[in-house]
Amino acid sequence: MSRSSAPIIAVIGAGFSGVMTTLNLLSLSRAAKVLLFEKRAPVGLGAAYSTHNPSHRLNVRAGNMSAWPDRPDHFVTWLADQGLDLGPGGFASRADYGRYLQAQIAGVAEGRDGMGRLVVNPDAVVGISPRGQGWRLTTALGQTHDVDAAILALGNPPPGRPPGVEEAFVASSAYIANPWRWRASELPEGSVMLIGTGLTMVDVALSLDDAQPGRPMLALSRRGLAPLRHQGAPASCPAPPSDLSPLALLAWLKQTARERGWRTAVDAVRPVTQALWRSWSPRRRQAFLRHARPFWDIHRHRLAPEVADRIDAMLASGQLVIAAGKIREMSLDAEGHAVCKWRARGAKTGYAFRAVRVINCTGPTGDILAAEDEFVRDLVRQGLARPDPLRLGFDLDDDNRLRNASGDALPRLFAVGPSTRAAHWEIIAVPDIRGQAAAVAKAALASLDS
Ligand SMILES: Cc1cc2nc3c(=O)[nH]c(=O)nc-3n(C[C@H](O)[C@H](O)[C@H](O)COP(=O)(O)OP(=O)(O)OC[C@H]3O[C@@H](n4cnc5c(N)ncnc54)[C@H](O)[C@@H]3O)c2cc1C
Repeated sequence: MSRSSAPIIAVIGAGFSGVMTTLNLLSLSRAAKVLLFEKRAPVGLGAAYSTHNPSHRLNVRAGNMSAWPDRPDHFVTWLADQGLDLGPGGFASRADYGRYLQAQIAGVAEGRDGMGRLVVNPDAVVGISPRGQGWRLTTALGQTHDVDAAILALGNPPPGRPPGVEEAFVASSAYIANPWRWRASELPEGSVMLIGTGLTMVDVALSLDDAQPGRPMLALSRRGLAPLRHQGAPASCPAPPSDLSPLALLAWLKQTARERGWRTAVDAVRPVTQALWRSWSPRRRQAFLRHARPFWDIHRHRLAPEVADRIDAMLASGQLVIAAGKIREMSLDAEGHAVCKWRARGAKTGYAFRAVRVINCTGPTGDILAAEDEFVRDLVRQGLARPDPLRLGFDLDDDNRLRNASGDALPRLFAVGPSTRAAHWEIIAVPDIRGQAAAVAKAALASLDS
């Protein structure tokens, strides 16, 4: 690096992706300084690991949750050191995983690698503009920071407004828009409606039941598909070829599932999921999303057995009903409670469900054009970012650099984590992101030489 002062790299967002990218930057370079921004303290937790509820478990076995790909036992050993000997097949609580991540960053920040080179800013980045070869960042607290490169680790934005839910209802106190920022203990007694039937719904249902055991809940989604459970130890199975079409992949999955079980078949795809996605044309990707995604998601992102047992018990007792259907209308009655009129999938029958609260559990949104985050809006407004054609996240080049409105990759502006889904598809869980964090750190450091 031909410069007199140490280069400065900004990492915006300090969930798993931002923290791991930061740690990789500090260990790969002996000179670079890192400014890590997080708009919501504490650092390291993000949407996934900021829960205090011990019922909220990881949906990946401890043995596959090491932050460090070259040290697969790292998390399991850390747990054992804390007196939590779950072994590699156990499912730790997400709160414990958050503590693990915080221990990683504390270890590096206070150690030889990070001392004096990491500055954590508890502040939101709200604007960015070109400055020389780098960027000028502005923050919610009115600060400006000039940096040589920036890495966006913005994570999982809250879900967008579901179809059938009007703005007027969204503004009412009966509606909870962000399923990761509410308190079950503050809800009045009575039934609750959950929009969405995936992993977010499961989290919310557990929180509601913990706070008020037996509370009735209706969970509704277009197909009414809920995540399936982990079972038994993972079995090894050769991965399919990485150039299959979506239809050929489906045939491979069906055949392998018949021979070895569906869990083994789905897990075997993991090493080639990103390569498959990259090999597909936009049309094939769209077909996969439209027809296979809901089925893929429930088989791929599974529940820890203890979580699945509780959900099964709630379903068996009738406390929780999962239905397939469409919201027709959402309104408020005289007491301020929600009245949801919905129609069952494939039927003409209409139903009405009265609830003290409606909680949007439809999962993170990827459409940057619909983003409420001021920073993302600023990027789009200035033409520094554009959405991918399928609206999964940022449009990126192969090095995870943002493409501007004209489609040119910006040399020193990168993204990491779920917002890079358009380029990689499976990039939401730790086993995928940890490798990407190292690759993005390397690419960002290399960009400083150009
Ligand atoms: C509820 C939930 C449970 C999950 N469970 C698992 C699991 O068990 N196992 C697994 O492998 N994966 C799980 N995941 C997937 C998850 O995406 C990854 O594990 C990982 O946490 C993603 O981290 P991230 O840093 O990309 O995103 P996030 O955790 O969302 O972090 C992004 C951070 O950026 C900050 N930020 C955003 N914009 C700005 C800004 N402008 N300025 C400053 N800060 C900003 C946010 O405040 C946030 O803290 C789960 C996801 C969710 C939502």
